[in-house]
Amino acid sequence: MTETGTAPGILTIDLDAIAGNFRTLRAKLGRGAACSAVVKADAYGLGMERVAPVLEKAGCDTFFIALSEEGLSLRVLLPGALIYVFEGCPAGLEETYAKNRLRPVLNSLEDIGRWDDFCSKVDHPHPAAIHFDTGMARLGLTEKETKTLIGDRGLLRHMETALIMSHLACADIADHAKNTAQRDAFQTIARAFPGVPASLANSSAVFLGPDYHADIARPGAALYGVNPTPGAPNPMAQVVRLQGKILQVREIDRTLSVGYGATRHVDRGALLATLGLGYADGYPRVLSDTGAAYLGDIRLPILGRISMDLITIDVSGLEPGQVRPGMYLDLIGPEVGIDRLARQAGTIGYEILTSLGRRARHDYISGGAVC
Ligand SMILES: *Cc1c(COP(=O)(O)O)cnc(C)c1O
Repeated sequence: MTETGTAPGILTIDLDAIAGNFRTLRAKLGRGAACSAVVKADAYGLGMERVAPVLEKAGCDTFFIALSEEGLSLRVLLPGALIYVFEGCPAGLEETYAKNRLRPVLNSLEDIGRWDDFCSKVDHPHPAAIHFDTGMARLGLTEKETKTLIGDRGLLRHMETALIMSHLACADIADHAKNTAQRDAFQTIARAFPGVPASLANSSAVFLGPDYHADIARPGAALYGVNPTPGAPNPMAQVVRLQGKILQVREIDRTLSVGYGATRHVDRGALLATLGLGYADGYPRVLSDTGAAYLGDIRLPILGRISMDLITIDVSGLEPGQVRPGMYLDLIGPEVGIDRLARQAGTIGYEILTSLGRRARHDYISGGAVC
């Protein structure tokens, strides 16, 4: 809140909270199901390099990532982990996947054909996952392809089918009819693959009950503090805090407009503070004139347009001397978490997270200290 430092913006990432969230999710799953971690998009923008080893230390041995490049970086970080790549294996990268023990998530019969041929050619049953689309029309085998595969298991002759999976479209809406429909469809598919571990649940589905847990859950967002149960209290610990440094404090001695577009005016007697971060740091520009910074629990409204690198705050309500250059105010913190900020900005916590931290200094903390 009032730490001094040099960086105009500081993104604090609580590694203990991430480890704690992993344990919370694992406990929620009970004994029957394991918990993996999704660390795609640089661990939802928080820095895979720091986050993934913390998750492994907390007991996670299976990781999911979106892209092959991310998979290769993760392999360097975690030599012993099981790594699945959602995009599958781009043609020509089969040897690279095998060498780096990356497991492709095969999303079509064509993907399966290519991986199985590769396994045949190298005469080794390299493991892969198969993704069945049960209602998202996004990635995975279509219903028709699923029927073909179940009718001709010879298509999987040379590879090891290490995992089957599907993904829910509406897991964050607990009573949505689509959830039971997708679960039932997946359970029917799973019966055709006895003995093969199955995975269905993202963060929200962990909270839909044991029917959804299958053998291994795949949470991402909840690890990083996003509420997996929207509308109910957040069972996860907050992970991020975003602070901006006050660069200037300005006493207003005559009516003036503030910021680009001159959208707001302030009168004589007002006190403004300018923070050294803006939309380039991931704070949504749409919160111009509506968002707020906080000094402890004191709400300080954003005044005028949010700029790329600067945000102007109305601090007229504070006592003179309560704010001065060099102090830090919270933009995301104990008073406003990512979900509330996302709601105000008309988006979801996922998008807020993945937009943060392109430029702000990253302070990783553990045991209350920067590490
Ligand atoms: C991103 C993703 C997840 C993780 O979802 P969260 O909602 O962040 O828990 C799981 N499975 C698939 C296929 C994904 O793309």
